[in-house]
Amino acid sequence: MFHSRHFNCEPVAEGIYVLEAKEQGGAMSNAGLIDMGDHTLIFDTFNTPQAGKDLREAALYFFNQPIKYIINSHWHGDHVRGNQHFMEEIIVSTSTTRELMMKTQPDWLNRMKNLLPNLNEDIFKLNTSLDHEHNESKQQELTSELCYLLEIKESILTLKVTLPQLTFDRKMTLHGSKRSVELLTVGAAHTVCDTILYSPSDSIAFVGDIVAVDNHPLLIDGDPLSWLETLTYMESLKVDLIVPGHGPTTSSHYIQQIKQYINDLIGISKQMILDNDVMDVSHIEIPEPYLHWKFDSIFYRNLEFLTKAANR
Ligand SMILES: [Zn+2]
Repeated sequence: MFHSRHFNCEPVAEGIYVLEAKEQGGAMSNAGLIDMGDHTLIFDTFNTPQAGKDLREAALYFFNQPIKYIINSHWHGDHVRGNQHFMEEIIVSTSTTRELMMKTQPDWLNRMKNLLPNLNEDIFKLNTSLDHEHNESKQQELTSELCYLLEIKESILTLKVTLPQLTFDRKMTLHGSKRSVELLTVGAAHTVCDTILYSPSDSIAFVGDIVAVDNHPLLIDGDPLSWLETLTYMESLKVDLIVPGHGPTTSSHYIQQIKQYINDLIGISKQMILDNDVMDVSHIEIPEPYLHWKFDSIFYRNLEFLTKAANR
């Protein structure tokens, strides 16, 4: 079996693997490998070049054939920063996603390069704390943080911003000798333009960050109301399996959970506005269904975004 420090490989259908991000490592989000028969298609390329390198190796390991298309689901760095390992192949996104990558990724890299001295200092401090820490769970926490920073440092030193060469606007179908898959955009959701990869013959959809499982989905770069419509459209596809951008593969029933989350947060933010309580969101308690979800901080960023958006 293929081994990477960045992701685990899960077969989900004949000729389809989900590469699920490990907690420690440079992947951060999930990717997919699809055997099209005469070539391999890849969905998303992780958060770092080093994870992208393993992604390429995994694709060649599982399907001994040329890689042809690489899909970028949306502009967020944790889905596109492995692109540089696919310069010989064709990277595909919507035209809006490409524009947003062009606008954001070089700036991010310059900012991060300027922050390198601080990052080195943080790594040094974490190493020192780890040397003095005897509590096992705290050691694990520190190790996790240290691994994350080391992956980020490696990516800043090696990243070459690599943009898609082929763009589309609403829909594109890619055909292989074994299966055909559809790339669909359905309006703003998690970002202003997200792409779904839908394989009708396998009843599977790779949906990027339109769905996050057991993770707070990030609302601040998208449009929550239009997102709800996108989710309704996804339900109409009636797929068996949904591959989210973060968290384990799930069934289409989980779409309802994301709708509930968005509606719950809209409800909380409306109440905060009625109570004239929008200055500080930190006293709001995370509702019970979402207590175990990862990245609490995103819950608070989402609330800030919704209360500000409603106040505008
Ligand atoms: Zn995202």
